[in-house]
Amino acid sequence: MQEPGRFCDKCQSFDVSPTAFRSSPYKERRVHQLGKFVEVEARTDCALCRFLTEAFLNGPGTDKFLQDEALVQGTWSSISGDLPNACLVFWLVANNYVDKLEFSIRHIRDDEVPMIGDARVITDALIDVNLVKNWVELCEKEHYCKSVPIEATRASQLPDGFMVIDVVDNCLIGKTYPCRYLALSYVWGNSIAFKTTSQNVNELRTKGSIGDIWNQLSPTIQDAILFTRQLGERYIWIDSLCILQDNAQNAVANIEAMDSIYRYATMVLLVAEDNAASRGLPGVSNPRQVHQFRSELSPGLPVLGRFNHSAYLDQARYRSRGWTYQEEQLSTRALIFANHQLYFACPSHVYGEDVYEGNQLGPDDILRFPDITSRYIREGQPQSVMYFRSVQAYTLRTLTFPSDTLKAFSGMGAVLGQALSSEMIHGLPASIFDLALLWQPAGKMSRKEGFPSWSWAGWHGAVRWNGDTMELASYGSLPDLKQELEVITKWIRTRTWIDWKYRNQNGTENLVWERNREGKAGSVFWPSSGYHEVSEIGYDSKAATNINPYGRHSSSDPTITAYKTRHSSPPAVCLNLAKIPDYLQPLCFQTLSVQLFMKPSNHYLRYGSVDPVWEPNGRVVFLLYTEDLQTCGYVLLDEVWKSKFCAEESYEFLLLSEANYYCDWGRPHEDHPFKRFNGYRDYEEFHVMMIEWKKVGGDGTKAAERVGLGRVLKEAVRTTDAKNIAWKEVVLI
Ligand SMILES: [Zn+2]
Ligand SMILES: [Zn+2]
Repeated sequence: MQEPGRFCDKCQSFDVSPTAFRSSPYKERRVHQLGKFVEVEARTDCALCRFLTEAFLNGPGTDKFLQDEALVQGTWSSISGDLPNACLVFWLVANNYVDKLEFSIRHIRDDEVPMIGDARVITDALIDVNLVKNWVELCEKEHYCKSVPIEATRASQLPDGFMVIDVVDNCLIGKTYPCRYLALSYVWGNSIAFKTTSQNVNELRTKGSIGDIWNQLSPTIQDAILFTRQLGERYIWIDSLCILQDNAQNAVANIEAMDSIYRYATMVLLVAEDNAASRGLPGVSNPRQVHQFRSELSPGLPVLGRFNHSAYLDQARYRSRGWTYQEEQLSTRALIFANHQLYFACPSHVYGEDVYEGNQLGPDDILRFPDITSRYIREGQPQSVMYFRSVQAYTLRTLTFPSDTLKAFSGMGAVLGQALSSEMIHGLPASIFDLALLWQPAGKMSRKEGFPSWSWAGWHGAVRWNGDTMELASYGSLPDLKQELEVITKWIRTRTWIDWKYRNQNGTENLVWERNREGKAGSVFWPSSGYHEVSEIGYDSKAATNINPYGRHSSSDPTITAYKTRHSSPPAVCLNLAKIPDYLQPLCFQTLSVQLFMKPSNHYLRYGSVDPVWEPNGRVVFLLYTEDLQTCGYVLLDEVWKSKFCAEESYEFLLLSEANYYCDWGRPHEDHPFKRFNGYRDYEEFHVMMIEWKKVGGDGTKAAERVGLGRVLKEAVRTTDAKNIAWKEVVLI
């Protein structure tokens, strides 16, 4: 007979009791191993194992863990600072030891004044609006989280023609900053919902007009408006109603100001319920059914188990879509609809309907942790790392219209650009252009028309900056702001040499990076502490001159210096550039080009301890060879090259920058091709881009396209036969 209070040998070591849940802080820091999930599942006479089995079989996204031999671990953890409150935290750990799913167990105490972190049983079929009001009030009055700028800057402007829905007068109304409003972030349904256009906008500005079109609004939008009213708020911004969908000027103004619209909203209603488009927001106009994991572990010890809200978000279509990415990342306060429950996230706290927020002010650390780790734009992050991580996460998502690639990232671009004091050139920050160019495919990729091949925006598929690049911005322990200056900025100023030029759609040709004449640093706005000036990352404004437009400090590589000096009077305009159509927006530059041979290999690419486990995912590492068959480098290519390449033919590689980093954890790993073949201990390399030439003009004018990126030994470049090496002027599209 299964009874509460009986625990297996492994679970007995947790000493589960009401007193343990009231420990302050819980002293025992040991992680208990419960064995493989199948073993936990088999211990049916243990109350805790049974509870964990039920949760893990029904939790968000557990399938992928249970397919392979996942492990179960658990520990006691303090909930908040020194308060006398603890919870049990369990993890389902995938057999790659990287992916983990967290499940925490809290005590249900109905008999005493609830303390922060105590479990709350959700009994209401409709959302308790007062609870949400309380969260907002705590945030505004107690946390001092700010969604308003401290000082006026460009980013503090709401766009011209900014409109919100007045939920009291039931119509659209124009507003200027400052203005208190909510904003909606959701996935558009398939059905064509009502849209505001220049034809109907005047009508929609009249009192009561929203009521006239009510039945044409999607259930998500109807509920968002109702809920705003229930909260006692007056205005909400919803894209399909507040942007003139047929007016390019109004649409562009709003899209370009997406960062402001979401950052300055008092709160963003973030809808991560897959069925919302047809059924509305659970618990607003329709009753909801909340499933909570509950059990009586021993007589008189009822508990509630929960997965983090981010686990439900990860499962939702919301997090797979491109447009919602920046909306979530940029919102200052979010009210999250997921798993038929509500969660609140602000820069310092996370609340959930199923956990008491209590009267104490410390945050619930267990609730808050996943939110901290999934937010890339946050205080204390080095600027360049925010950029790399944001692009990596963004390119994992999909867009209905691939042509929206840069539009749906423009709000992020604006914030990151401001932090880096930099223009964004096709999604690459100009001030760290040499580093930004070093993105690699994270899986299968294919070319996306309409964007250049040198930008990640020009490809379908996810990208990442690999460990060998990211030794500069290590993933393991994040570099702090000072390290970023000392490592990334130093590398850019001393280990790169290309004076990038670029022509925009209007045919204007410019340097990719225009020196900031005041030598001004960037600035970032943090909701918790306001505006901060940040140091200049990347090229050096103060050192920039007409002949050294990127302000580089003396270059360290003699081969490059020799070639560059020999060709010191470059033509004012790239010879070929004039013949390239404007719409291709070419990059033009001079650098060294080498011809090399290549062959596919079984090598894997995992240079940093911080890179994910290498899986080919449609990619192949090709080893590079000199004419006399010395292994001299590698390039990461799409697997189509396995059948496309020819061992007797040479391919063209452009030298981009120096790659011989020095990092704390030592040299690249054991399987590095050179270590294996040549016994090099300390190899110095160049980053190289493999290119193909493509006819672009009627007269046979050719331009280069990026094929892949890799590294080549400097020694091989120095000893290359003269016929296989040349200083070239390249037009890259
Ligand atoms: Zn057990
Ligand atoms: Zn707050």
